[in-house]
Amino acid sequence: MKPINDSILVFKFGGASVKSAEAINNVINILKLYKNRKIVVVVSAMGKTTNQLESLFEATLNEEYDLFISQKDALYDFHIDMINILFSGQACETIKHKIDLIFDDITAFYQKQSDHSKSQRYDAFISFGEHLSSLILQFKIEQDLEESQWSDARKLVKTDDQFQKANVNWQKSIELIKNHCLGALEANRIIVTQGFISSNNLGETTTLGREGSDYSAGIFAHALDAESVTIWKDVPGMLNADPKFFENTQKLDRISFREAIELSYYGASVIHPKTLKPLQNKQIPLYVKSFMNPTAEGTTIDVDTSNDHMIPSFIFKKNQVLFSITPKDFSFLIEANLSDIFLKLSEAEVEINIMQNSALSFSFLVDYDKNQIRAIIEQLSPSYEVKYNTELELVTVRHYDKKTNDFVCKGKKILLQQRTRKTARFVLGK
Ligand code: ASP
Ligand code: MG
Repeated sequence: MKPINDSILVFKFGGASVKSAEAINNVINILKLYKNRKIVVVVSAMGKTTNQLESLFEATLNEEYDLFISQKDALYDFHIDMINILFSGQACETIKHKIDLIFDDITAFYQKQSDHSKSQRYDAFISFGEHLSSLILQFKIEQDLEESQWSDARKLVKTDDQFQKANVNWQKSIELIKNHCLGALEANRIIVTQGFISSNNLGETTTLGREGSDYSAGIFAHALDAESVTIWKDVPGMLNADPKFFENTQKLDRISFREAIELSYYGASVIHPKTLKPLQNKQIPLYVKSFMNPTAEGTTIDVDTSNDHMIPSFIFKKNQVLFSITPKDFSFLIEANLSDIFLKLSEAEVEINIMQNSALSFSFLVDYDKNQIRAIIEQLSPSYEVKYNTELELVTVRHYDKKTNDFVCKGKKILLQQRTRKTARFVLGK
């Protein structure tokens, strides 16, 4: 017999899917397609709200009061304009009052004295975005569909104290999510909660890292043994390349968890990379679907590996810097120097995108960051000759063949290349 909670669906709606009154009405229409299903809705902040909150937060740090107030007013108007279209009469007044209270807290934040770290204050502040969006969406569901439950994700997703990139306490979160959601889903068919935000042991707000709402959906689904997760996006599914860099993209109809994890590791940005693991562990399928075309097929990510090789995927990382270092005493690069190099790079908090070594030199590629380049040179130049090249790109081709490789390298200078059975990677310059 199937367990009773087998039929829970987890839906993640990102910022673009709730960026306007029209978009929110569209979310309501999507929910209408899933009559009688138990659904946990995980929602991000509306449109570009998180970026705007980041800029407000900067203004508090720089003590730019006028800028803070004008940007805050713009964000307020954005939410209130939407509410005025979505609601009328008493309902409109009720939800406006709730939103006003949050904006009172946003305004008060500017003056608030605190001895907390910058990261901790960032998390406390940035979480207003998801708080706003989830209240508005839940209220709209209540108006147009049925009674539903608004749930505070900070009471359910528990983490350590790593503000801005918190690590989930799985045991605690699973227990809290199960205890709260299973009962709440008996009383109401739909729960609306926030992506991205969580809290530590003391109940202080933490966040899971930018774009972390996908991961939240994965956490809820894992804890609830959900039937599936659907990420509703502004693209028809997972594509084999970023349409920003590539003309003829193709939709991947079905790929395995492994393949999706590989693609996100190499930098494909459709799904937050941490999302897949908790789903893979419980074999919960993930659907990526278009919110503009909700009945279309989308992409299915599950245990089936049989289609993985069918379409080559291309992942581009622009603005790369290739370092090449040689021991000053011309000693060979053996384990001892390599471990010295890695220690120094890890002290400079360097993330390496690709690396390679020869007898006398070690090469590694990083994202361009002026301060980091300086830190790397400082760390390494006492013992090594350090050279670097900027304005490069890293192209990864999954399931490559000669044609795909010729295509990506055409007219470019290949500075470094690596091939494994399924993956070819090229560092390219002009
Ligand atoms: N609102 C957060 C962000 O923009 C989380 C998310 O959208 O996934 O990063
Ligand atoms: Mg987003």
